[in-house]
Amino acid sequence: MSAGETTPRGLAPLEGEPDPDGADCVSCGRCCHHGPNTVSLLESDEQRMGEARVRALTVLLDRPPYFRFMKNEGHRCGALDVSEPGLYPCGVYEGRPQGCRDVEAGSPCCMQARALGFLGESVLFKRSDRDDQR
Ligand code: SF4
Ligand code: SF4
Repeated sequence: MSAGETTPRGLAPLEGEPDPDGADCVSCGRCCHHGPNTVSLLESDEQRMGEARVRALTVLLDRPPYFRFMKNEGHRCGALDVSEPGLYPCGVYEGRPQGCRDVEAGSPCCMQARALGFLGESVLFKRSDRDDQR
């Protein structure tokens, strides 16, 4: 399978460590590929994203505690811009939820997503070598 090819759950796995400052994220996009109801929104996320985009791109669960999540488009976040083949920029980058901001390139979560081709189970979003910068 070649890089960029889709699997039932995401994209083809990627080898190697990404640029620690995120320069490879747009050509990767693996952590934006995940199952439904994965990326939750806090109230502050809703405010930053704005009403129109919250209405169009998120879903409110109909059971307590009524969490709001980014909508999925198949096996990926519905806000991911897939208009250019091989590129995966976030379509709401400036307004993206805090959970997306927390994932650092090169963190355990990122490395697992790249190895799998989609977001895995890791919740270790920060790189250990950047502990002092938190
Ligand atoms: S998996 Fe890592 S390199 Fe890929 S988009 Fe996410 S943070 Fe960036
Ligand atoms: S909101 Fe943007 S960064 Fe977050 S999962 Fe969706 S496309 Fe990726």
